[in-house]
Amino acid sequence: MTITIMSGKGGAGKTTLSVSLALELAERGKHTLLVDLDVEEPNTGIFIDKQGDKRLEASVMQPVWNSALCSHCGKCTSLCQFHALVKLPDGVMIFPDLCHSCYACSDLCPVGALPMKPARIGEIVRYTAGNHLLFIEGILDVGQEISSVLVRQTRDIALSEDVEIRIFDAPPGTACAAREALNRSDLVIVVTEPTPFGLHDADLALKLSRASGKKTLLVVNRADGEFPEMEAFLKKENITVTATFPWIRELSQSYSEGKLDPKGFPGFYASLQTLAETILNSPEGAR
Ligand code: SF4
Ligand code: SF4
Repeated sequence: MTITIMSGKGGAGKTTLSVSLALELAERGKHTLLVDLDVEEPNTGIFIDKQGDKRLEASVMQPVWNSALCSHCGKCTSLCQFHALVKLPDGVMIFPDLCHSCYACSDLCPVGALPMKPARIGEIVRYTAGNHLLFIEGILDVGQEISSVLVRQTRDIALSEDVEIRIFDAPPGTACAAREALNRSDLVIVVTEPTPFGLHDADLALKLSRASGKKTLLVVNRADGEFPEMEAFLKKENITVTATFPWIRELSQSYSEGKLDPKGFPGFYASLQTLAETILNSPEGAR
């Protein structure tokens, strides 16, 4: 079973929930893989007691211009849909950050002057983190701009692992990278917080998840009392809240210090157990 935990914005509690759920399921004896797909700012690993890193370089294929072969016909620069090639008086300039590795220029160059070669974008690191827990993180190199490729590569490596449950800590937002995170999952958990901003972005995340045809649960984090807008939102979305996690100042403080101990906060832990039971008792969890 593959679960993607996402939110329409950063800071809603995705990582807190991803780590806590992974620890809980592993403790229940489920072979669990936690995956940090927030490749631009991976921080899930801070909260995991991990060992034995195994590193794999991540790369994309990009054209390399061969000046000796080029006939300056200009064909490649006019066909690149992403404007990653520019014709200059004395040759062709490539903008790697704009290239989407579609191979069109390389395949259609009449003289083979644009061979595709691998270019590093980051790395994917795998750790063990206890008897029943594995951890994988994708780390985009500084200066790289297209994160969705590394999200996809990290996701696919995670999918090849033989485990019972995979938990993807998705990138924030609803752009291509978040979509890559959820489109191979069986279940999506949208995390929101009871604020107008939180609901606005949860609305976007729910739309993305549902448009992808995924079974979707909604979890409220940092609940600290009445929030009438939430009722109207749930009615509009025709969705019920699967679990509500209370606002606990000490938990946030502990998180900011790089520590996460779900069992240390009974109110939080009770909601975590509710969520774990819901997942394990779902048709997807029973597979
Ligand atoms: S298509 Fe090939 S030959 Fe033509 S300008 Fe581009 S690199 Fe040069
Ligand atoms: S591989 Fe595709 S996107 Fe990249 S430069 Fe060539 S045509 Fe443009």
